[in-house]
Amino acid sequence: MTSTPDKEHNFHVAKNLIQQAKDCHAKMVFLPECFDYVGESRAQTLSQAESLDGELMSRYGQLARDCDLWLSLGGFHEKANDGTDRIYNTHVVLDSSGNIRSTYRKIHLFDVDIAGGVRLKETDSTVPGFAITSPVSTPAGKVGLGICYDLRFPQLSLCLTQQGAQVLTYPSAFTVPTGQAHWQVLLRSRAIENQCYVIAAAQVGRHHAKRSSFGHSMVVDPWGKVIAKCQDKVDICIAELNFDLMKTIRAEMPVNSHQRPDLYGRLQALSPGTEEIESKAEYTFGQHSVKSSHVFYKTPLSIAFVNKKPVLPGHVLLAPIRRAERFSDLSPSEVSDLFQAVHKVSSVIEGQFGGTALTVAIQDGADAGQTVTHCHVHILPRKKGDFEDNDDVYDKLEKHDKEVMTSKWRTDEEMSKEATLIRKNFTS
Ligand code: AMP
Repeated sequence: MTSTPDKEHNFHVAKNLIQQAKDCHAKMVFLPECFDYVGESRAQTLSQAESLDGELMSRYGQLARDCDLWLSLGGFHEKANDGTDRIYNTHVVLDSSGNIRSTYRKIHLFDVDIAGGVRLKETDSTVPGFAITSPVSTPAGKVGLGICYDLRFPQLSLCLTQQGAQVLTYPSAFTVPTGQAHWQVLLRSRAIENQCYVIAAAQVGRHHAKRSSFGHSMVVDPWGKVIAKCQDKVDICIAELNFDLMKTIRAEMPVNSHQRPDLYGRLQALSPGTEEIESKAEYTFGQHSVKSSHVFYKTPLSIAFVNKKPVLPGHVLLAPIRRAERFSDLSPSEVSDLFQAVHKVSSVIEGQFGGTALTVAIQDGADAGQTVTHCHVHILPRKKGDFEDNDDVYDKLEKHDKEVMTSKWRTDEEMSKEATLIRKNFTS
């Protein structure tokens, strides 16, 4: 697109492009940053901003319904509604019923001053977002949302792919000099290092007297090949995504599992959604298995799940996903991941079950009372007086799962119900 300051004009251009895409049987359409408008001044930019329940978003909702396709609306000028006149730069995903499925507010703002070149200060009008949005499931796969300048931060792309993104999107309005120097290299790099698709709809040409954009909208495949691109004008390009190709590339060159977080640290994992946890029907737990519906939290290397026979209400377990019997069998990255998870889960569990303290324990080896041959951490919320003698908890831990005659294992249904309740405290 070549958005101008005129919102009405831009809407009609976008509508026309969306209808063209529909005629080509597209399932989802990606518009660039500033699809709504490009203001000529700070005052004009602020005065035209709307909230997410405003008129423009409802017109796009109607368009999505009429065309029966999903829309990625990159870089909407969203009124902050915080008592100031400032705005967020918001990426909105609408489903084919016109409902907002996901929003992401740009976290890296473009404040740049290159001598003799580009000068732009996005923070003059815009406030940064405060969260990364977990990838959203769409008819074009699991889409991780970014916006324009975010493209320069591989950390964001890694967080999103660790969360299962198959597609990264960067709706953009790159300036001409930075676009000439970096646009395609950056897009291909993000695709290659994350082994995922990258979709980048871009503004092109002259918006008004003071601003022009580089253009070159494109789609890059997980091997880094540009599989579709627009010419230097207002246009659409169409790509078909092949997730089998992505799987093959990831299997043949498993860069994700070759990472060395023990040496350079791991990026903060986002809390996975239910879908991510349930991507596997069950997880190995030594000689047993754990149903995914009993898991309430998952990190790249560990799971946390409810206990089949809790010693106290809220007694949960954490284990590495890979089967490893003893604590010493874990790799440094598994230890670090497991204990980051223990740290997070323990505070949630203490709060949720009204504890005032915690017992965190590992029975490491048969002689220490381990019955399940898969390293695991017990977390039990504790309260004053919950055992006659405080250290009785260890006796109970040793015996509780052997006393099946006196008290029964819990049912799948009871366990799933509890996991669902606990999971609610982990959604990002
Ligand atoms: P340990 O005696 O330290 O090996 O602890 C084993 C723990 O796993 C006990 O608290 C059991 O109640 C629990 N447990 C055994 N099988 C399962 C299972 N399939 N799902 C959840 N918890 C289990």
